[in-house]
Amino acid sequence: MRILVTGGAGFIGSHLCELLLAEGGEVVCLDNFFTGRKENILHLMDDKRFELIRHDVIEPILLEVDQIYNLACPASPVHYQYNPVKTVKTSVMGMINMLGMAKRVKARILQASTSEVYGDPLIHPQTEDYFGNVNPIGLRSCYDEGKRVAETLMMDYHRQNGVDTRIVRIFNTYGERMLENDGRVVSNFVVQALRGEDLTIYGDGTQTRSFCYVSDLVDGLIKLMNAEADDIHQPVNIGNPSEFTMNELAEAVGRTSGKEINVRYLPLPADDPKQRRPDISRAQQLLNWNPRVPLDEGLKKTVDYFAARL
Ligand code: NAD
Ligand code: UDP
Repeated sequence: MRILVTGGAGFIGSHLCELLLAEGGEVVCLDNFFTGRKENILHLMDDKRFELIRHDVIEPILLEVDQIYNLACPASPVHYQYNPVKTVKTSVMGMINMLGMAKRVKARILQASTSEVYGDPLIHPQTEDYFGNVNPIGLRSCYDEGKRVAETLMMDYHRQNGVDTRIVRIFNTYGERMLENDGRVVSNFVVQALRGEDLTIYGDGTQTRSFCYVSDLVDGLIKLMNAEADDIHQPVNIGNPSEFTMNELAEAVGRTSGKEINVRYLPLPADDPKQRRPDISRAQQLLNWNPRVPLDEGLKKTVDYFAARL
């Protein structure tokens, strides 16, 4: 099996490449290194079944592969808002290029969508049939709407051209190989705790997120890619339903890092979702998937990783 992972040098992508190789696949990792690093995949370079291509998904490419995991897209607000037009191009043109390739070589394709398609959700927890509450013109829209169009393209290529598609809606995921300056809350808090800096809580810290450790997430991605069912082309939430406020997360980082924590409250960014928790019934039924790693255990591993790096 030849498997393409776009965004394979990024945080989630590098863990996915590693597991696919361990399971015996041949892996082609494609990345433009915007937020990805060679360092994340350096340990895979000696494997004869691993190949690296520097390429931008907004340009067409043709590769003979059996499966495509399309992860290429910056995921942190700091990075996706750096060049918002490019973010839209990456999601939309990248999706069209990858779907065109999937159609041509008859590959199965999985799109890394996001819980952000639910925007600031008015139902809680979020089920896959919820259409979402997304601002189309805000600072987060380049990411949210880009990912929504990507889902539309997936469904239309499936219905119109019979492309074999899978859509995963990933909820907040954390772990080793996040960037120090990534800007997402887990890496920010862990790095700040280790440096003895104040933890920056945006707003009053009562907004919630549900944090999934990266090994659980990639396990879910591979299960979904290889699952068969009549409604398998419909989106599937993958995330850990344990929900925490940002104040609780700060405490957990204190607990797991063994550091004394001081917090500093900063203004809440516009359109920041107030609550988020996946309903994972569909993943449980379809894939027999459940997250295994509780927050404190995953945080400990993340703390150890950043402690070694800093
Ligand atoms: P990341 O920023 O670490 O990884 C993204 C990778 O894509 C990087 O290696 C980057 O260099 C590459 N990339 C970006 N634009 C590209 C382009 N135009 N062409 C080729 N490569 C490009 O982020 P991540 O957390 O690993 O996220 C991976 C995927 O999962 C993304 O699609 C993201 O939207 C999705 N996702 C992640 C989360 C999360 O919590 N981590 C949540 C929801 C969805
Ligand atoms: N956040 C925070 N401090 C930080 C970074 C983020 O309080 O240093 C908050 C942010 O406002 C949001 C939550 O943490 O409410 C999760 O932010 P992240 O960027 O990790 O993910 P997303 O908002 O995309 O879910």
